[in-house]
Amino acid sequence: MSRNAESTAFRSALEVIRAVEPRVADAIGAELTDQRESLKLIASENYASPATLLAMGNWFSDKYAEGTVGRRFYAGCQNVDTVEALAAEHARELFGAAHAYVQPHSGIDANLVAFWAVLADRVESPALKKAQVRQVNDLTEADWFALRRELGNQRMLGMSLDAGGHLTHGFRPNISGKMFDQRSYGTDPATGLIDYDRVAEAAREFKPLILVGGYSAYPRKVNFRILREIADSVGATFMVDMAHFAGLVAGKVFTGDFDPVPHAHIVTTTTHKSLRGPRGGMVLCQPELADQVDRGCPMVLGGPLPHVMAAKAVALAEARRPDFADYAQRIVDNAQALAEGLLSRGATLVTGGTDNHLVLIDVSGYGLTGRQAEQALLDSGIVTNRNSVPQDPNGAWYTSGIRIGTPALTTRGLGAAEMDQTAELIHTVLTQTTAGANADGTPSKAKYNLDAGLADKIARQATDLLATYPLYPGIDLS
Ligand code: PLP
Repeated sequence: MSRNAESTAFRSALEVIRAVEPRVADAIGAELTDQRESLKLIASENYASPATLLAMGNWFSDKYAEGTVGRRFYAGCQNVDTVEALAAEHARELFGAAHAYVQPHSGIDANLVAFWAVLADRVESPALKKAQVRQVNDLTEADWFALRRELGNQRMLGMSLDAGGHLTHGFRPNISGKMFDQRSYGTDPATGLIDYDRVAEAAREFKPLILVGGYSAYPRKVNFRILREIADSVGATFMVDMAHFAGLVAGKVFTGDFDPVPHAHIVTTTTHKSLRGPRGGMVLCQPELADQVDRGCPMVLGGPLPHVMAAKAVALAEARRPDFADYAQRIVDNAQALAEGLLSRGATLVTGGTDNHLVLIDVSGYGLTGRQAEQALLDSGIVTNRNSVPQDPNGAWYTSGIRIGTPALTTRGLGAAEMDQTAELIHTVLTQTTAGANADGTPSKAKYNLDAGLADKIARQATDLLATYPLYPGIDLS
């Protein structure tokens, strides 16, 4: 496919938008410039292909399509059926899953669908029984009351937030923490690794309905075979949220015990992180949960987004190509090179390294909070995010960690040598930044001191590093 075609497509699109609201066209153009110029190390972000991006910008967006393929509540969905069926087929083939549901709009939505499906499958409730047979409108106030009480009594065991779990795994600020009575498993304080014996002990004591595996900030492989055995031993449904590492599963870097799909009853994911698709979510499940999962919309989801399902089909087709496996392996090789570069310069990493796409730096060794480090790096053209470390003394807002990930830079083509240079830039910024003070002289967890000239110099070095690996080389908007 000619590079010229990509430039023409995006240039023409911007011209059409500019004729209506030039400020939007300008912002879209500026975003490309910003993304091209920044060293993006956000572990949950990536760069979708031009084909994936273009599949989203069209009239599929105009179509309502509640229901499932061949069973819609709206007429005229034959073309939506085509793309939804294609996306689901690619997902099943790619992950070896019995069933795929590609409607969730995001990872959080996919988790809500999964929770509902498991509850509907497991809870003996007259109210839920009615809901299962698509009679939600027939539920009385008393039914809803009974339902809420029953949902509230359900138990979920998931990874604790500071060990790397996600808010949707039963934590209070999220609906999952209100629907479920939650208990967490953490990591071994000495090694930072999941202690499966402790997970088994917690499961025996707590008897969860759902055992959740998966994480947002744990830099190691997880043994899903062992977690499934633990779930089985207490009669729990085993759910895995592979939002972060779906690309590593798709690219067959995580296989056997480390591939969640053959072990879990239900697997949820985002499509936009290491999987490199459009922003969105997806649920994969065993056949017995398929009917409940397919009721995601309208049970907990708004109407499906056909333009995004079209883009999911494109991205999943890309992930089925042999070069995606190479990409996935390079993500991990790069993360390990980055970890080694940081360790050799004296940084402290949670678990001492990584075997996935992310690295968690404990910045307390530099005398900084995560917030100070995040801002100092940002001043220097390096985009990361602050993150809690296990037993974090600075809590979830200031934190003591910086999470960095390699999916995006690997898409641009950077390799091990550039990861070492990146480690050097990060280490220089963090060693040259000092914690600041409040107006009254007390130590601040947010303020910091970094020489502006040094920050500029690092930002220029970051831009130079990226110059050899242009982002979207086929797109020239000038
Ligand atoms: N699950 C995990 C493990 C995540 O890390 C995230 C997002 O960072 C989500 C779910 C939520 O995804 P989304 O932002 O698409 O709702």
